[in-house]
Amino acid sequence: MDLGIDGKWALVCAASKGLGRSCAAALVREGVNVVITARGVEALRATAAELRAANPAVQVRTAAGDIATEAGRAAALEACPQVDILVNNAGGPPAGDFRDWNRTTWIAALEANMLAPIELIKATVDAMAERGFGRIVNITSAAVKMPYDALGLSNGARAGLTGFVAGLARQPRLAARNVTINNLLPGPFDTERLRSNVAAGAQRGGQSFEAAWAARMQANPTRRYGRPDELGALCAFVCSAHAGYMTGQNLLLDGGSYPGTL
Ligand code: NAP
Repeated sequence: MDLGIDGKWALVCAASKGLGRSCAAALVREGVNVVITARGVEALRATAAELRAANPAVQVRTAAGDIATEAGRAAALEACPQVDILVNNAGGPPAGDFRDWNRTTWIAALEANMLAPIELIKATVDAMAERGFGRIVNITSAAVKMPYDALGLSNGARAGLTGFVAGLARQPRLAARNVTINNLLPGPFDTERLRSNVAAGAQRGGQSFEAAWAARMQANPTRRYGRPDELGALCAFVCSAHAGYMTGQNLLLDGGSYPGTL
């Protein structure tokens, strides 16, 4: 299927590794020019080189910086000639017990996983509406539907973003101008982040990493972890010309873990 977004520009945040990187790769395959961001310069450059090699017809630019900061967002926006597609993503907050978190801990989680996406939406959405095309995808988490006890910071910050997006996406000044805003809710995907979370959980529970990794995999109806390219492919479709009638949705990719009928 031709997704109809060849030649568009996408800003894909937190995209040197993992899910963000897969979203960028899927868009590049569709002929979308991308700006990718991350804090670590080395991995960012390496990923950019791989993306260029995958499709030499597109432009791939990098913007190093922390997307949770104003400076990081300014650098990302500066690098992108026009943002037709915005993929909001950042590292997830740490696991732990809420009794150990203070205001600073909470503000850091909110900055990365709620306020940064909102600021980037604010910076780009009206120009998208003027041009009559815009796709915004927020990578959130299955925790929005089914909270993880140890990830209270993530549960809270992402629920806040989800509530905000639910209202904004339905504004006719956006929806009627072919601007959509949707959230992708990953369950367990095999990335560095998941491996480090499982390792931390294993340590807390006095288990080996291998045993914890295998147990988590067996607990999923598919008996496997999600592959980041599976999320990237869905992201590209949600950003496609064909997806203009889908907005304000929360799309769960969890191998069927969520036990609800709807
Ligand atoms: P990952 O493999 O650790 O990759 C994270 C990427 O984001 C890296 O490129 C990292 O590069 C970049 N990054 C992190 N913090 C950043 C920041 N503040 N500013 C700019 N770039 C930043 O993680 P992932 O598994 O892809 O997870 C992506 C998001 O999905 C996270 O919020 C995670 O909580 C959420 N999620 C993941 C899963 C899963 O199973 N993997 C499930 C549910 C939700 P630098 O470190 O160099 O900045």
